[in-house]
Amino acid sequence: MGSIDMDIKAPRGVRDILPGESWKWAYVVRTTAEAMADFGCSEVHLPIFEQTELFSRGVGETTDIVEKEMYTFSDRGGRSVTLRPEATAGMVRAALENGLCAQGASAKLWCWGPMFRYERPQKGRYRQFHQIDMECLGVSGAGADVEVIDLSAEIFRRLGLRNLEVVLNSVGCPVCRPVYRQALLAHFEARRGELCETCLGRMERNPLRILDCKNPSCGAAADASPAIYDHLCPECRDHFEEVRSGLERLDLSYRLDKRLVRGLDYYTKTAYEMLSGDLGAQNAVCGGGRYDNLSEAIGGPHLPGVGFAGGLDRIVLVMEEQGCSFGRAPAVRVYVAALSDEARSAVQVLTHRLRRHGVAAEQDTASRGFKAQMKSADASHAAWTCIIGPEEMEKGLVTVRNMADGSQASLAPEAVPEFVTKEGNQPL
Ligand code: AMP
Repeated sequence: MGSIDMDIKAPRGVRDILPGESWKWAYVVRTTAEAMADFGCSEVHLPIFEQTELFSRGVGETTDIVEKEMYTFSDRGGRSVTLRPEATAGMVRAALENGLCAQGASAKLWCWGPMFRYERPQKGRYRQFHQIDMECLGVSGAGADVEVIDLSAEIFRRLGLRNLEVVLNSVGCPVCRPVYRQALLAHFEARRGELCETCLGRMERNPLRILDCKNPSCGAAADASPAIYDHLCPECRDHFEEVRSGLERLDLSYRLDKRLVRGLDYYTKTAYEMLSGDLGAQNAVCGGGRYDNLSEAIGGPHLPGVGFAGGLDRIVLVMEEQGCSFGRAPAVRVYVAALSDEARSAVQVLTHRLRRHGVAAEQDTASRGFKAQMKSADASHAAWTCIIGPEEMEKGLVTVRNMADGSQASLAPEAVPEFVTKEGNQPL
């Protein structure tokens, strides 16, 4: 049966992760979980929707996310809720609400799951996408920033991704950013004619955002703009220098980019992204940085933080393009077939026995004939087929066929699990 044309389809910009891909996701998440544990991070599961205010205050009113990308609706009690567009604000809320950072404690937390943004869909950009997110809360020193960047690089190293570049910047803090903002305004004021409509609007609201505009003419104006490094206050400058020397100590190469500002208002000091040379326009596989003022923005106490979010959909895309390994694909090891109707119950018992021993086994539950079962066995690429028919029933044995060379053995059912898993006994 081919695909069926129905009126009801998945909404635009969202997709199904089907069996051919889902096992790859599981591999990426498993590998990530191991790296997270090695870096002392604990996994948490957080709600997919939150009070809208969490994002309008925590992500920032002038960001694209809050201005035009949120899935916001009223629930039946008339409360405004929003499908999470990112994970950091929720993570900080959860840490505060549950006292994870009480009395100066710090916490390293991670989670993964779907995020929702009403963006224009294209390759690598979806309206429901998935992030791996890690946040280090309660530490203001640059050592934490270096650890976060190192952790993201380590995850990608373990996944075998190549051709990645770390791009680094500092976005300053409320002390130095206003000074820089003035310098930027003066620069862009003189080049108003080169700016697109959107950037003209950004002049008043958030001129830093002009720096990451994709419009070529705005880009040329941004390239010639003053660099934030020359405007950082002493504290931000020292922090930036420490991050850079920390990365150099660990041999993590990076490129400085004064135009990297990222879309989120709560960032302070460090901002970074990891870009893939194999992704086209949507080339960021990971973005992160420091956000020392987020907690206060959502009504909490001062709580410094630094973290990153990696795009799972894009990571899998790049890995596929680069031919990276996803570990072993799920496969049926043994197909158990009934030669006659009387043998079906013995097939059920043997299949159950194999699975109890952790052997991936498959059987026919649709009462199909022997030929159809053997077709399924071939299609499943099972290494072994067990056949039970009248003769086997009489002797209390099972015929075990090596599917690679057709050789057969007669075994007692109890001996089958060990036989098909024994080292040196493998047909493929
Ligand atoms: P951000 O929260 O915007 O810094 O995004 C962090 C990472 O999530 C990006 O580097 C992308 O890999 C991924 N990402 C962000 N938006 C999308 C999207 N609409 N579709 C797919 N991946 C995305």
